[in-house]
This record gives sequence, structure tokens and C-alpha cells, in this order.
Amino acid sequence: MLYLGAHLSVSKGMYAAGRQAVDIGANTFAFFTRNPRGAGAKALDTEDYARLRELLQEHRFGPLVAHAPYTMNPCSANPQLRELATTMLAEDLERLELLPGTFYNFHPGSHTGQGAEAGIAFIAEMLNRVLKPEQSTVVLLETMAGKGSEIGRSFEELRAIIDRVEVKDRIGVCFDSCHLFDGGYDVAKDFDGVLREFDRVVGLDKLRAMHINDSMNPFGSHKDRHARIGEGSIGLEGIVGILSHPVMKGIPFVLETPNEPEGYGEEIALLRGQCGIG
Ligand code: FE
Ligand code: FE
Ligand code: ZN
Repeated sequence: MLYLGAHLSVSKGMYAAGRQAVDIGANTFAFFTRNPRGAGAKALDTEDYARLRELLQEHRFGPLVAHAPYTMNPCSANPQLRELATTMLAEDLERLELLPGTFYNFHPGSHTGQGAEAGIAFIAEMLNRVLKPEQSTVVLLETMAGKGSEIGRSFEELRAIIDRVEVKDRIGVCFDSCHLFDGGYDVAKDFDGVLREFDRVVGLDKLRAMHINDSMNPFGSHKDRHARIGEGSIGLEGIVGILSHPVMKGIPFVLETPNEPEGYGEEIALLRGQCGIG
């Protein structure tokens, strides 16, 4: 089964986003848990979540992939922002108990000049304060392009965070094809080699979800500008190679390309046709 979907707006509710996912041929989707550029979250509507759960079951969806707000920076030099990140993570995970089996990915953060090692320690500190073995959500570190002082630019940095996390089975990794490519991992020409390197440094069992984006910039540019599928430096063939790689079987793929829902629908149809699976 190829679990393929897109990042959708939940401004009209969770069930409405699920309906839209079905309409565009998706069988997974991603969503922001709260205002991506702020901190506020809407009041919890448990009935809305219940209707979504039913819909997901009926249409045999794979795991959904919730995305933390961009404002979450657990390794900021500002202790108030670190505290805010911890609070947001705890609240989001509590909510996601209403959607068991959903993944939750976040950008590890920007160390804002303190150095990667200090940043890594702060990120692990937040995770150790919040992660509990009884939570049903697995929290995923997203691979980053390495712009500015971003943590997560290399598999070694992700490994260093995971090594410090106590509840090991609640932590994993979310690949982002654009970020990996921009960060110097050639997912276009050698996805197999990238997977082997990830397995060597982190372990393939930690790879749980993937964002699928083409890149507007050349290999190793450390830029992070997403392009539509086939319109960037990775190219359609490279993307299809990722989606159909045997190691990726069962992994939910989420498009974060610059598109409206109809555009996502076209990309999903194109990729399903090209991959010839499910
Ligand atoms: Fe992201
Ligand atoms: Fe992403
Ligand atoms: Zn990005």
C-alpha cells in the first residue's frame, strides 16, 4: 500500500480536512496542530476528531503526520521560548491521543548562536520532560536543510538527540526530500546510498514518515525552498525512486509542495500512476 497525501488546512475542522484528503485521492495527510506562525490552538472538538477517526478507518488511511508550529524552538537561547516549546509539545501530544497512531513531526530548532551541542542538549531536555511511554504518538525529528543555525542538518545531529532521549520507542525521524537534498544527501541520484547512511548512523527502524517535495535549489545549497513535483532539481524520476523504494513500504508520504488542494490531487494521481503501487 502506498500511503500518499498532502499537507492540508484544518481551519474548517479535522473531519473536513479528512474529506478533502479523500477527494484528492490521498490516504494520509499532514496538518498543523495550531497556528503555524503563532502559539494559539483552537478549542478541542472531540466530536470532530471522532468523525475523522471513522472516516480514516472507512477509507483505510495510513498514519497521519501532524506538524508542530514553526514557532516551536526548543533550543532557543531564550528560556521563555524553550518553555513555550515544551508546553506546546505537551498540549499537542495530549490532543493527539484522540488520533492514536498519528505521528507528530517538529523542526528540531535553531540554536541561535549557542552552538549545535548546546542546542542538541536543550532539544533532548524538552523531549525527556514530555515523552511518556504510555503516549500513543511517536514524535519525529524532521531532517533539515541546514540554513542558519538549524539543528538536524545531518544524521549525526539527529542521532545525538535520539541518544539522549530516554523513551526511545516514542522518538523517530521524518525525512524531507527537499531538506535532505539541499542538506547534501543525494536523494535524487542515490536514495539507496542515503538510506544506507541513515541506517549506519541512526538506524532504519527510526524512519517513520517522509515529506515529499522537489527542490527549487541545487544539490547541497542549504536553502529549503520547496518546488512542485518534477519542477525542481530532484525531478520526477528521483521522487518516484523514493516512493517506490522497497525499504519505504508502509511509510506515509506527505506532499508539502506549493499547491492548492487540486494541485495536490494532480500530483498524487501522477505519482500513483508512476509508482504502480496501491
Ligand atoms: Fe517541516
Ligand atoms: Fe517538511
Ligand atoms: Zn521545508
